[in-house]
Amino acid sequence: MDVRVKFLGGAGSVTGSKYLLEIDDFKLLVDCGLFQGMKELRLRNWEPFPVDPASIDAVVITHAHIDHSGYLPKLVKEGYAGPIYCTHATARLMEIMLRDSGKLQEEEAAYARKKGYSRHENPLPLYTLEEAEHSFSQFVSLDFDDTFEVSPNISLKYLYAGHILGAAHAELEIKGEQQTKKLLFSGDIGRYENRLLYDPANIENADILWVESTYGNKASPETDHKVALKKTILETFDANGCVLIPAFSVGRTQDILLLLAQLFQENAIPDCPVYIDSPMAISVTGLYREFHKLHRLDDEMISKAPVFDHPNFKYVRTQDSSENINTVKRNAIIISASGMCTGGRVLHHLFHRLPRMNDTVIIVGYQAEGTRGRRILDKEPQIKIFGEMVDLRCRVEYIQGFSAHADRNELIRWLKNFKESPKYTFIVHGEKEGAEALAITTSAEMHFNTYIPHYMESFDLFQGI
Ligand SMILES: [Zn+2]
Ligand SMILES: [Zn+2]
Repeated sequence: MDVRVKFLGGAGSVTGSKYLLEIDDFKLLVDCGLFQGMKELRLRNWEPFPVDPASIDAVVITHAHIDHSGYLPKLVKEGYAGPIYCTHATARLMEIMLRDSGKLQEEEAAYARKKGYSRHENPLPLYTLEEAEHSFSQFVSLDFDDTFEVSPNISLKYLYAGHILGAAHAELEIKGEQQTKKLLFSGDIGRYENRLLYDPANIENADILWVESTYGNKASPETDHKVALKKTILETFDANGCVLIPAFSVGRTQDILLLLAQLFQENAIPDCPVYIDSPMAISVTGLYREFHKLHRLDDEMISKAPVFDHPNFKYVRTQDSSENINTVKRNAIIISASGMCTGGRVLHHLFHRLPRMNDTVIIVGYQAEGTRGRRILDKEPQIKIFGEMVDLRCRVEYIQGFSAHADRNELIRWLKNFKESPKYTFIVHGEKEGAEALAITTSAEMHFNTYIPHYMESFDLFQGI
């Protein structure tokens, strides 16, 4: 039996994760992510798929983030009709996130049409919300730690990876005529001693390893988030203002809610309304309730004071009630998406709050270059929202270290669980600096045989096993 891999994404960049395995004639795609960020990357989403999607036999998804799952609707649209394996929580999260992605694609196409900036006469979305929904019937969701037979000689096991709800390492076991080989895809690796999620699983062996390297060159700053939040909230309330927190709907919003619930419980901040103003964040918080066994709030969820049901938390479901919050002048906290202020309800909050000197915007996540969130973080004097230039007069605070990704030290901690170094280790899902730094450390200190693959590169992994 022969095994080959081709890197269709997530190589030399953090987005577009797609690894095509060819096990004799069986084609299996691990992750099916969208390219995001720079235009030259995004254009790859529009190129013809390197193999006929109809010829693929199985897709294995590690987690619901769009850079790992966002190309699925396009793959299905182009003819993929087979199973899409994932964990139960990932299946539910993907339904929310792929719908949202389809909606965003439609909005972008409509915007391009209106502005006439597209080279095409009639710019089309990569896929629509409705097309995103077509892929859902192909989901086959699995338990963690169960072995599932993908084909008579390929089995799949999902192991807990932390990172976000449902996220997994994917372990594939391939039975050849003479030997059995284990392939391990790390997916995105979470944090250790995290407030919300458990530590990633200890993996002790694999023949071939794919490891992410997002923060291969960075140690996460050690910030006491609770102390930092408390200080900024109290100072803002003293100034008779409100706090606005732009936050990602998956993971970050729930993390902030947990911290706020603890601050209320400890009487560290006065009782005040906390508006959770994002339909997607509300749906995702529902999944954190439903899949409580997958995170550390398990005990609290079933006890008398469930974290997400704190009486101060107001889940804002309609657009009208969202806009009513603009009249609130003091002593309130608003959490809204999108996390980088590129769209969503957070825009109207920013429109009204940025000019108010007494209010504070707290940035709790990475802000990519070119986004509105980055401009706010850089305190540009005016920010464009809804086509208008809005004066930035409010206070802007940045609380670092909220990332859901293992930092440099945690990646090494995870890798040190291996009793024996894998035959090959592919360093993926990282920019050049992150991937190179991790390759150097693992080769020098741990004697790993590492390689940083390039986009579209392919390798023979085993011949005649
Ligand atoms: Zn991720
Ligand atoms: Zn990722």
